[in-house]
Amino acid sequence: METTQKVLFVDASTGFYRVRRYKVGDYFGPVDLGVHLSGRLQSLNFGVGLFAGSIFPGSNRLIFTGFSPSWRSFFVSSMGGAGLVFDNLGINLVTLVGKAALPSVLYLNRFHGEEIEVEVLPIDLHAAWAGAPSGCAEDTAAEDTAAEDTAAEDTAAEDTAAGAAAGSAAAGRTRDPEFPRTGSYGLLDAVIAAYGPRYAGDYRAFAVGPAAESTDFGAIVSAPLSGGKATSVDTWAGRGGLGSKMLQEHGISAVIYGGTVVDEDFRDRKVADEWFEAKYKQKLAVKDFEATTKYRFDPKFSTGGTLGVNYASLGGRMIAFNYRSVEWSEEERVRLHRELVLEHYLRQFNEESIATKSQATCGEPCSAVCKKLRGDFKKDYEPYQALGPLCGIFDQRAAERLNHAADSGGFDAISLGGVLSWLMDCLDSGELAPEDLGVTKMPRWKVEGFDAVKDSGHNAELGIELVASILGKKGIVDFSEGPRKWGRRVRRERGIRILDRFVYTANGRRGWMVPNQYWTPGVLAPMAIMGKYYMHYGAEFLPPRQLGRVCAERLRKELGMDDAGLCRFHRAWGEEMMAEAIGAVYGLKDRYLQVIAITASRINSRNAAVYWESEKNLRFLKAFLTRRRDVEGDASPELAAWIAAFEADPQEAALSFWFEMRKGIDESLRDFF
Ligand code: SF4
Repeated sequence: METTQKVLFVDASTGFYRVRRYKVGDYFGPVDLGVHLSGRLQSLNFGVGLFAGSIFPGSNRLIFTGFSPSWRSFFVSSMGGAGLVFDNLGINLVTLVGKAALPSVLYLNRFHGEEIEVEVLPIDLHAAWAGAPSGCAEDTAAEDTAAEDTAAEDTAAEDTAAGAAAGSAAAGRTRDPEFPRTGSYGLLDAVIAAYGPRYAGDYRAFAVGPAAESTDFGAIVSAPLSGGKATSVDTWAGRGGLGSKMLQEHGISAVIYGGTVVDEDFRDRKVADEWFEAKYKQKLAVKDFEATTKYRFDPKFSTGGTLGVNYASLGGRMIAFNYRSVEWSEEERVRLHRELVLEHYLRQFNEESIATKSQATCGEPCSAVCKKLRGDFKKDYEPYQALGPLCGIFDQRAAERLNHAADSGGFDAISLGGVLSWLMDCLDSGELAPEDLGVTKMPRWKVEGFDAVKDSGHNAELGIELVASILGKKGIVDFSEGPRKWGRRVRRERGIRILDRFVYTANGRRGWMVPNQYWTPGVLAPMAIMGKYYMHYGAEFLPPRQLGRVCAERLRKELGMDDAGLCRFHRAWGEEMMAEAIGAVYGLKDRYLQVIAITASRINSRNAAVYWESEKNLRFLKAFLTRRRDVEGDASPELAAWIAAFEADPQEAALSFWFEMRKGIDESLRDFF
């Protein structure tokens, strides 16, 4: 195994590049290296963990790090399976600095034994987003040599085993003409068509959509290839606006990469089985199969995937209509969940995606097959919740239309869902008028007599109009510096505190993040990175100081997974076994754990979390606490004391709750070294 990590530095302004090696032991992976490099260079970094290409399932995540334009601090975002092909470049990380003069594609290719080819190629970005096949300025595909054509055909025919597995559910199908491949998909397709034929081996690409140009929360999309084309199994580095960063700060709209380098990956199944037998009395494959039940098919709930299992089990913890549901009675929430989710939204999903076994992987061999599909639509809980019930949408057809608009736009879908439901709430409450937001409709948010198909469809159409307003800056909408700053401007100009309806966590002066879609205080914790699972999102009540400590512990564990490039759906063994594997292969287990702890404390040393600004955050928390007592029967004295404090003075209680969490976080993430 390699004892150094190779980092390719690319200056997008000149195309110049160099490779530098970092000793394993000084740094272990894309996160601790990312913290180091981002602090010095303000770079965007993407790369893989030490076990990319290994036999560990889930070990091929492509990890992105950098200073987030939306969160306004260091951020980590990752994409399933995209590291498998990246590993064939024979490097561990790319660090992007400088800015290309024109919107460009970064092309990375490497034949075994040769130097890596690096090119920064201008692209007609708006043509590509419009779905034009010739969006790439250097559209060399058509004129390529016969030899290259042959290579491309061979590549397409062979494909990777993993890509074929991933694409099996999506390949060969005619795309639905109602949902054109424009925006982020248009760019992804254009780049693959133009430059894919240059590759002799496997390749893959990732790209941004128009949201990366006009907002601070543009995401990055990729997909496994099948037959030389992107499949419908989208994988996203969604959170943190790193797509906006890639385009606005580096002028790079897409990256295509691949190669034929065969390096020395850990592939000894017998040895891995011995480690797993010693720890779990099970072989690796058996342990992994058991650990990923939820994501594949959980017989307990007769469904699978995050969407299926979460919706099957939510009941009265359901959140809908921009969190208005948290202040309803339990009976009202349970009825909503039963009538609109269990009997319609989830039923459709179970019939269309689970019963038909329409599932795929992210691009690597993985028995979890967590990607649940219906035709061209991939269904995960969080985007189909944020751009579903949170916006008053309980019908799969309607949610598909809105999710497609969000994904084509290249948005962080969870953040977009929070923003759209907030804007709909502002319309419904009369704080803003349709012309303010450049739309023609009002939301249909009346729960009594709600028509699951018609009213959901109407709300989805409104959502799609709002997406167009955000991208086209219609009415008074302008999210180029994020909704928090925009909300402050609306308050200054109109005297309305619309931010009081927006559930978000705040960081520094401008940073913002829509929380993960769970009704629990951990999603609003004052952690240094929010919006992903670097916090505790369990449904139980924990006193806030303890909750802060538990969040800190989660940060360390999740950082370890990301630094190893391992998919968190394998965390039931990954959190323990990555350290064991690094110990067995490199003899550096203790040093690895130390580096993770130092990295966590480094990240926390820049924690600029700001006390909750939105009234709605307080109501979210207060309603959670009373539900725990009144519905879940939690009789703990601490809980009763916090409820009494919230009843006496909600502002004071919330401030104390927030600072107690922060104390727990800071006391756990001090630098002990
Ligand atoms: S669980 Fe899903 S995202 Fe993770 S490695 Fe497996 S297929 Fe990919």
